[in-house]
Amino acid sequence: MQGLMQDWPLLAHKVLDHAATCHPDQEIVSRSIEGPIHRQTYTDLNRRAKQLASGCQKRGIKLGDVVGTMAWNGYRHLESWYAIMGIGAVVHTLNPRLFPEQLVYIIDHAEDTCFFVDLTFVPILEAIQDKLPKITNFVVMTDREHMPETKLRGVICYEELLAEGDDDFVWPEFDENTACGMCYTSGTTGNPKGVVYSHRSNVLHAMATNMADALGFLSTDTVMPVVPMFHANAWSTAFSAPMAGAKMVMPGAQMDGASIYELLDTEQATITLAVPTVWLMLLQYLEQNPEKKLDALKRVVIGGSACPESMMKAFEEGYDIEVIHAWGMTEMSPLGTLGTRKGGMQGMSQEEWWPIKLKQGRPPFTVEMRITDDDEKELPRDGKAFGHLVVRGPCISKAYLKGEGGNILDGQGFFDTGDVSTVDEYGFMQITDRSKDVIKSGGEWISSIDLENIAVGHPDVAEAAVIGIEHPKWDERPLLVVVKKEGTEPDGADILKFMEGKIAKWWMPDDVAFVEEIPHTATGKISKLQLRQAFEDYSLPTA
Ligand code: AMP
Repeated sequence: MQGLMQDWPLLAHKVLDHAATCHPDQEIVSRSIEGPIHRQTYTDLNRRAKQLASGCQKRGIKLGDVVGTMAWNGYRHLESWYAIMGIGAVVHTLNPRLFPEQLVYIIDHAEDTCFFVDLTFVPILEAIQDKLPKITNFVVMTDREHMPETKLRGVICYEELLAEGDDDFVWPEFDENTACGMCYTSGTTGNPKGVVYSHRSNVLHAMATNMADALGFLSTDTVMPVVPMFHANAWSTAFSAPMAGAKMVMPGAQMDGASIYELLDTEQATITLAVPTVWLMLLQYLEQNPEKKLDALKRVVIGGSACPESMMKAFEEGYDIEVIHAWGMTEMSPLGTLGTRKGGMQGMSQEEWWPIKLKQGRPPFTVEMRITDDDEKELPRDGKAFGHLVVRGPCISKAYLKGEGGNILDGQGFFDTGDVSTVDEYGFMQITDRSKDVIKSGGEWISSIDLENIAVGHPDVAEAAVIGIEHPKWDERPLLVVVKKEGTEPDGADILKFMEGKIAKWWMPDDVAFVEEIPHTATGKISKLQLRQAFEDYSLPTA
């Protein structure tokens, strides 16, 4: 027997329709690339996205076409997402921080035929367009007045493309499993691989992450996603905020501490989301400007890399702002776990809660998660055993674009995240490493992330990274690589002393090396690969 409910496909533009119908006057505030602060409502966003969709259709963009975007978080980027997805084409976000050769590979592999680009990034596309013959049109996301002199092929002005569209356009309906978004992830080996979201997975993921125990956006919230739309689906905010009818604040190109503070303050943001490096800049700015307050801000979501204890403490104890530590990955749409208190934990003292809160958290409904040994056997949920973190669910990749990388699921349909973690008796997961970065000493694993988090708690340490260095007796031993805080001169022994008592004795790094800069990947993570290469010939004093 079949249920007798209506056939109502979970399509991305239904989210926008809902926002425009039920929250018509709610605002989207953007720091525009041209300079001024721009304001529009969900009514405006829906109307303009529809008109742009119609304009795109008239230019020949159709169901299944892949359209690239390289743009900051702003209203035109939001409009183009909904417009492109709304006609069944696929939005392919590109990270401007990638090298030109990587961009060429990814754009060509995904077969982008049209490309939307913010003013800032026009030179990047100009430099590589000759290697991208499949692209027929580049749409520069500005108005006629600000159009640059450009040699981009088939160049179109965004506002003119929009004006070409009909204002009575009606969103079409199609299968909810239609591809809707695409984002390449730099795998551990080989070329970057294309993760392809469907309308259904994006809508479901937004609903899952919007549950009260997860992000729980309200229509009374002001959400400021600093996490870029070109990285991992902007943690679903482009869908989850309109779904809730929340006000949105889009920071555009200016991501420094002062600019982020200014928007948080003037727009009275209640919740904001980004990677730790962004929050480091904001906290430094606040430290230098003690008169500045963040009265409206209630919650800061931190993910993408582990949130150090010192950062969590600075927000919670210094500014009375709740930190939610989250973990996820591009392949998971991206949110996988969030660290909010759960039933039975209400009575916990701060001392009991704090070590649990520092973990990466627990999964919302739609994410099945477990840890396994090398034979795919599940390991106990005791907070001690660590193993491969594997996940399963309707918003998690089952394959990469064009089958790259072959079969990516295990015998039971789980995807190996490449992370190594523990899961405790409360179901809270804690990442100890990427499997390729874990340090193997005397047959046991040492967590580089734990060591890094403790080291950055030292007042003179700006950033820390730990890598394994070959050792004749132990196989590998940890080396702590440190960037000093400006104006300080810490010595290695002092930093190691600071770590004493906070970790098992045999985890203590064998040496400390000071560097000017630690290399990062395009998504802001410490590049252990480059760091290991830089220290290839290093020999430990204990060797
Ligand atoms: P990406 O696909 O670029 O978002 O990268 C995903 C990877 O980032 C994960 O597999 C983790 O290794 C890492 N990651 C994300 N969030 C966290 C977190 N809160 N703590 C530690 N690592 C994280």
